[in-house]
Amino acid sequence: MTSQTPPPGTCRIGHGYDLHRLEFEQGGAGLMVGGVLLAAPVRAMAHSDGDVLLHALTDALLGALGEPDIGQLFPDTDPANKGRESWDFVRAAVERVRARGYAVGNVDGTVVLQSPKLSPLKDAIRECVAGLLDVRVDQVNIKGKTGEGVGPVGEGKAIEAHVVVLLRAV
Ligand SMILES: [Zn+2]
Repeated sequence: MTSQTPPPGTCRIGHGYDLHRLEFEQGGAGLMVGGVLLAAPVRAMAHSDGDVLLHALTDALLGALGEPDIGQLFPDTDPANKGRESWDFVRAAVERVRARGYAVGNVDGTVVLQSPKLSPLKDAIRECVAGLLDVRVDQVNIKGKTGEGVGPVGEGKAIEAHVVVLLRAV
């Protein structure tokens, strides 16, 4: 197989999913979601900054290209990835998208978190994600949902994100 430039108009869809366990932390920094800090008395258990949305986004971008996932590209066994900012992972995935002759068409993501509500930060998250991807804000949609009080997310023990992206050849 060669990495020839795809014919213009060729589209590829990608899906990404991520989950992080949450740990109670009174007076901590809070949660990073889509590059935006959400005030909360919890922190995400992770090797990096634990940004569940940016991790799912990275996997969606890589998945659309049919490339290895974030865990293979940035193994948590590598000390270089400890405490790493998640925007770095997104940037690396965007570089691969460009190198393969594609541009991001649009992104649709859902963050599942029991509390606090994501809605006050939704616009800030959309802007941040659009900036990272170098696309317009109207190409990025972010939704927030609760876990309806059931399961690990509903019980406040985890945060989850689902992201789909569409790439088109340019
Ligand atoms: Zn993650």
